[in-house]
Amino acid sequence: SGKWEKAMEIVKEFEEKCATPISKLRQVADAMLVEMHAGLASEGGSKLKMLISYVDNLPTGNEKGLFYALDLGGTNFRVLRLHLGGKGRGIVSKQFEEVSIPRSLMTGTSDALFDFIVAELAKFVAQEGMDFELRPGRQRELGFTFSFPVLQSSISSGTLVRWTKGFSIEETVGRDVVAELTKAMEKQGLNMRVSAFVNDPVGTLAGGRFTNNDVVAAVILGTGSNAAYVERAHAIPKWHGLPLKSGEMVINTEWGNFKSSHLPLTEYDHELDAETLHPGEQIYEKVTSGMYLGEIVRKVLRRMAEEAAFFGDTVPPKLKVPFILGTPIISAMHQDTSPDLKVVANRLKDILEISNTSLKMRKVIVELCNIVATRGARLSAAGILSILKKMGRDTMREGEKQRTVIAMDGGLYEHYTEYRNCLENTLNELVGKEVSETVVLELANDGSGIGAAILAACHSKYL
Ligand code: ADP
Ligand code: MG
Repeated sequence: SGKWEKAMEIVKEFEEKCATPISKLRQVADAMLVEMHAGLASEGGSKLKMLISYVDNLPTGNEKGLFYALDLGGTNFRVLRLHLGGKGRGIVSKQFEEVSIPRSLMTGTSDALFDFIVAELAKFVAQEGMDFELRPGRQRELGFTFSFPVLQSSISSGTLVRWTKGFSIEETVGRDVVAELTKAMEKQGLNMRVSAFVNDPVGTLAGGRFTNNDVVAAVILGTGSNAAYVERAHAIPKWHGLPLKSGEMVINTEWGNFKSSHLPLTEYDHELDAETLHPGEQIYEKVTSGMYLGEIVRKVLRRMAEEAAFFGDTVPPKLKVPFILGTPIISAMHQDTSPDLKVVANRLKDILEISNTSLKMRKVIVELCNIVATRGARLSAAGILSILKKMGRDTMREGEKQRTVIAMDGGLYEHYTEYRNCLENTLNELVGKEVSETVVLELANDGSGIGAAILAACHSKYL
């Protein structure tokens, strides 16, 4: 019927606008590389903030002692306790707890958010058994991972540039985030010191380096998206601090805020952007990361329902609810291997209250998920290419047997196999066979928190 054809037209047009041929990905990578240079040249010189992390000495693997981490992401926060054994012994034990952040706290007050976090941290500490006693008189030390852009002034301080993802608490912007946390700890009588304050890819990089010397960059694909890498000090014109002993500094790119005319954006993306808490910002993040992929699919489905009666004469009401289709649902439907697409049928029924779909319709829905995930994964690969280019590791260097390991963390990368595979295949295609054999993407589960605890060890006041 004409309705079906109209629906297919909507899908086809969307697919065409989402296209990411290799030539386009190269343009994206080159545009991002230009922004990286500009961001390193001066503070505020680019949409890519290229923030100085104050991590200029990465872990050696010999760190020792009992340390804590607090990892505040975009959806969850985790508290963890890490026992580091010292040379050759690595991580002896690890305990952690994950708490989802109540939505109301994401847009409430600064005090309410930090009071909640510290209350959970205090509970975690209070559960400690005798085997976790610190030596008498010793203060607990904490690595604090914070997945939002921060302008740091030292390894243990920094002011919030702005909130991203689902967060928006105006009064925190411009404040020292460590001071906010410390204030809440003092209020609740929790005696702990923030020894290291890092962004999540910086933590992931440090955690990766602890066990593998070849780790030189890290990428987060979770609620949001970000990357960090090791830069040579002389390539950071905006660094006016003391000369660095290591000659290196970890840079937090904040690539989520990348934007370029080369990005394949559709009307659905523009509409989504306009409806977020931060319109016009984090555009690259909005086409690549977990918070948004499901919402893009919903918008296309809604259009198909409204303009082509894809689900019949009435538009299913649930389809009008923003963010009702989370990315985990998209990934479950996309990866449905049952011959009659049972998972798709069940998710449509449970989440959208849509029943009686035909197999043909369900196949179209799987294809929509595929289009959105493929675009995101391929654009993420382009981002990684730009980092390899920045480090001069996108080509083979004569006589050098270099290995480039990129530590990967985040729920999207961890759980969405199709996305992960597409990203890897695309990156291999972009760098070519010879280089692809020297580049390894390594899943670093909970790497951002673990890395922060290890950095707390590196910056312990008892060293
Ligand atoms: P955070 O971003 O808070 O640090 P995570 O790294 O755990 O948290 O990432 C959570 C995000 O990962 C979720 O918002 C979701 O978008 C995505 N995610 C979680 N599980 C899946 C899944 N099974 N398939 C696809 N994406 C997932
Ligand atoms: Mg995280």
